[in-house]
Amino acid sequence: MGKLKVTILRYLAREHFRVLTAVEMGMKNHELVPGPLIAQIANVRAGGVHKILQELSKHRLCSYERGKHYDGYRLTNMGYDYLALKVLSSREVLGSVGSQIGVGKESDIYVVTDTHGNPLCMKLHRLGRTSFRKLKEKRDYHKHRHRISWLYLSRLSATKEFAYMKALHERGFPVPRPVDCSRHCVIMELVNGHPLANIREVKDVPQLYSDLMDLVVKFASCGVIHADFNEFNLMLDDQDKPVVIDFPQMVSTSHENAKMYFDRDVRCVQEFFKRRFNYESELSPDFACDIRKEYSLDKEVAASGYLRDVQEFDQEFEIGKTINESEESDDDETEGDEYDSSEDEPTHDDKEVKEMKEETEELCKDLKEKTMLSELKDRTEGQS
Ligand code: ADP
Ligand code: MG
Repeated sequence: MGKLKVTILRYLAREHFRVLTAVEMGMKNHELVPGPLIAQIANVRAGGVHKILQELSKHRLCSYERGKHYDGYRLTNMGYDYLALKVLSSREVLGSVGSQIGVGKESDIYVVTDTHGNPLCMKLHRLGRTSFRKLKEKRDYHKHRHRISWLYLSRLSATKEFAYMKALHERGFPVPRPVDCSRHCVIMELVNGHPLANIREVKDVPQLYSDLMDLVVKFASCGVIHADFNEFNLMLDDQDKPVVIDFPQMVSTSHENAKMYFDRDVRCVQEFFKRRFNYESELSPDFACDIRKEYSLDKEVAASGYLRDVQEFDQEFEIGKTINESEESDDDETEGDEYDSSEDEPTHDDKEVKEMKEETEELCKDLKEKTMLSELKDRTEGQS
């Protein structure tokens, strides 16, 4: 797990951000991004870029590695966190980062604050190596992208989560209010409550059961299935009202395995209620009979254009199934070890470089020089 050493956010200059963004760009089609290419994309002098890369490496925001055929740099988890946090603080969405409240299967969850000190929740998506390897076997992702990187997967997962949360929130579903999203980082409302998994007693068990089944049906009536509707992704507020979280795996009711996902969500709740509350109900929604489609939230999300990448990706890799099997991502140091860089000769043409240069320019444009996160704590400090 990468340390969220946010204190350094204060000290790094605009140039560093630019060079780090260039590394991120380069990683679109290189496992290791050669120094001269970084200089080109970042549009800084070759001599200057070297020093900056050294500093970035010292802070472990990127790392220098020797491949079989050439040397280069890659972004670390921490470097990716840095880019996202810096942007979110520059947009004045984020004021400070507090303590970590959760380590999900594929995420790190933090309490953060907005610029006025109000609490929010930050989810950093971390899709690790296991899923990466499995997915890699399936198919080459893109003509120029020889393989799918953890960067790409994590960003896609966050984008998808944010898009669904937004659509669901707008339709009045009990989900956290989405605030903003950058790269692999989603900022949302901090739910004032606890995961159902930690709750031993509720006032009205049948009522809660029926609330949850209603939700499953309401989701499906809007064209979507949560597909991971379990006691860890359901929170109860102080009124025992459920709040649903965790959306990267959501599927459309027109998915070929929709009924299977739907039934599994229903079963999850039933089995939990039996185990925890010794409660069994007659009420058990049926995908074929009980769902009258009133709205196509799946299509709405798709139509926003926001998720084109994600859809392609879901279809190709069946994200809901494959990714859930993966384990937690590894350390910054070891990540990417199994990559065979011999296949990864640096190939790029002028057009590609120009595009990456422009994108870097664009990404760095809005960054306010003076915006800095002042109260951020080192993750290790926060835990001690
Ligand atoms: P994962 O995809 O890794 O399972 P989740 O989104 O389910 O991540 O979050 C993991 C845990 O973090 C949850 O079980 C919950 O305890 C906590 N959590 C997530 N989102 C929020 C939120 N908005 N407010 C409060 N706690 C949250
Ligand atoms: Mg979860």
